[in-house]
Amino acid sequence: MAKRSPRRALRVRFKNVSTKNETIRGVKGTRDLLPAEVFLWQQVEQDARRVFGAYNFGEIRTPILEQTALFARTVGTDTDIVAKEMFTFADRDSETLSLRPEATASVVRAYIEHSLYNEGRIDKLYYMGPMFRRERPQKGRYRQFYQIGAEVLGSDSPLVDAELLEMLCEFLGQVGGCGVGEYNLLINSVGCAKCRPEYLKTLKQALEPVRSQMCADCQRRSVTNPLRVFDCKVPADQAIIAKLPTILDSLDVECSQHFNTVTSELNQRGIMFQITPRLVRGLDYYTRTTFEITSSALGAQDAILGGGRYDGLSEMLGGPSTPGIGFAIGQDRLILVVNEKARQAAPLTEWKESPTAYVVWLGENTLGPANALARKLRQGNLKVAIGFEPASMKKSMGMANKIGARFAIIVGDAEIADGKFQVKDMANGQQEAVEPDRIPEYIRAKIAGMANSLTE
Ligand code: AMP
Repeated sequence: MAKRSPRRALRVRFKNVSTKNETIRGVKGTRDLLPAEVFLWQQVEQDARRVFGAYNFGEIRTPILEQTALFARTVGTDTDIVAKEMFTFADRDSETLSLRPEATASVVRAYIEHSLYNEGRIDKLYYMGPMFRRERPQKGRYRQFYQIGAEVLGSDSPLVDAELLEMLCEFLGQVGGCGVGEYNLLINSVGCAKCRPEYLKTLKQALEPVRSQMCADCQRRSVTNPLRVFDCKVPADQAIIAKLPTILDSLDVECSQHFNTVTSELNQRGIMFQITPRLVRGLDYYTRTTFEITSSALGAQDAILGGGRYDGLSEMLGGPSTPGIGFAIGQDRLILVVNEKARQAAPLTEWKESPTAYVVWLGENTLGPANALARKLRQGNLKVAIGFEPASMKKSMGMANKIGARFAIIVGDAEIADGKFQVKDMANGQQEAVEPDRIPEYIRAKIAGMANSLTE
């Protein structure tokens, strides 16, 4: 076969890529998160790190790109995620790669690859980052979305399940400084490799006579993967699904005991939950405890998070038998809820990244001292902005106002001669001359004073 010239190969690869000078827009289902919004994202992430850290979790960062086989084998080829939604492509060396649609499989892969099981402890890992699913975009559903998740590997104790759910409730209660408000914890057990086959047989039998009345997806699922029938959202199928036998009635003794201990532990810890026998979750690897948390503050896409146990996942990936449990919070949806709640609870909270101070300089001679002051304030961890062009007093004060600075610090010739700069509190218009070295402490005292007067 004749070899393709590199130039021609490039032309073929970029055949559909427009080279015209038209505006390029973001990809459908992806979003740009702008600084005013990212502020809250960072706070949510910080809260997750703090709460998960208190429960002795450590962060793991796995690649966004993985071999397609990782998800095909674990999530399951009959799930919507793998069958319809993965961004998959053949790499140049003909490896088939996918953008990760979720991270549990990656975490378990990494756990096996680095032989973390050899260290003989329970591993508690958390992650945060983007996931990719080619779904139909709508509010709360994106093609690039973000998850904050945690996994516990190495123990099948029901106390682990209870502790993980307790940690989730702590996080949801504290996140954003105000929590998410009311939510529903739905919980179920989907049994294990020993008792599920028996149940699947019963389920298949129950589906047999009603199959022809169900949607096309369910007709297929009832043969290939009957548990997935419970994922069906088609209204006409719901009456049929409501009459199907549930797995909770078919659990073996061990799974039953496991589930009972989880629920009694939750009761002990004062955690409210709702047993939902038809909750099966969208991935194939789940065993025993499965759960979901929904919020009525969200619209049609009301699940903030989902998770469950996956005691056979490590073996599926060629690793040693290692029980595990985890959850993934949809960060985009969490932010929707927290944003609304935070605005109601604390309208005074500064959600925008406003600087604490704006340094105003008036004339070339003042630029040096003004820059030195800005640097000093920044070294003291205050957020400071300073103009880059010479500007009049009026224009500079206008700018301080526009960016929402709490203080404007005026550095003019007279102030330099006097050895004191004017510090204007934009909240009440009060102005005082303060020695440059004292300005950081002066500003902090003012901010603390304001906070105290608000809480009195
Ligand atoms: P899953 O990995 O499917 O169990 O999903 C866990 C959580 O991730 C869900 O409860 C949602 O909050 C969130 N999630 C899943 N898919 C999307 C998506 N396409 N866009 C936004 N959030 C999503």
